[in-house]
Amino acid sequence: MNSTSQIFPQFQLELPQWIPDFLQQQPATFPTHEARMELVTTLSKLNIEQGTGGPFGAGIFRADTYQLVAPGVNLVMSSGSSITHAEIVAIMMAQQMLGSHDLGAAGFPPHELVTSCEPCAMCLGATCWSGVRHLVCGARGCDAEAIGFDEGPKPQDWRTALEQRGITVIVDIGRQKAAQVLKNYVEQNGEVYNSRQGTSE
Ligand SMILES: [Zn+2]
Repeated sequence: MNSTSQIFPQFQLELPQWIPDFLQQQPATFPTHEARMELVTTLSKLNIEQGTGGPFGAGIFRADTYQLVAPGVNLVMSSGSSITHAEIVAIMMAQQMLGSHDLGAAGFPPHELVTSCEPCAMCLGATCWSGVRHLVCGARGCDAEAIGFDEGPKPQDWRTALEQRGITVIVDIGRQKAAQVLKNYVEQNGEVYNSRQGTSE
């Protein structure tokens, strides 16, 4: 009998090579929202410069010690998977590193998801299921839409929806700088993928 992996491919998610080198040069802790946003915005910028994905970066941080648990960058094109947004990658990495599907499990410190751009419809759902207790966003969804990316069918009051689930939300931390990375991406003819904006084209 064939094993599953002979019939269906195994899926491996790997962060780009430059990330460990980059993180080695970073401080051990990131005590302010601004410092954490600076880190993930730099990841978004380097992800373009290194040609490893779209203009989005994220990170899961411990909300007690402000250490980075796991970074994430957009890997949609390099992984060949539409779901590998920066937030999803950071959540998956953190859960693998901690050996739990729930970052809010008993015995864990509270965790914070910091993302260079507001979560899209998919990442909004993933944020709910991840177990993080805090969400911090840089650029707004409208900044991503301004360059052609699609945020998907997100409820207008998505912030309230997260708050009602016990996840605090802070927006507009370093928005200008994060939005500039998005602008630079299209100006350099970066591909705006999977963005049908509700059309079937
Ligand atoms: Zn997303």
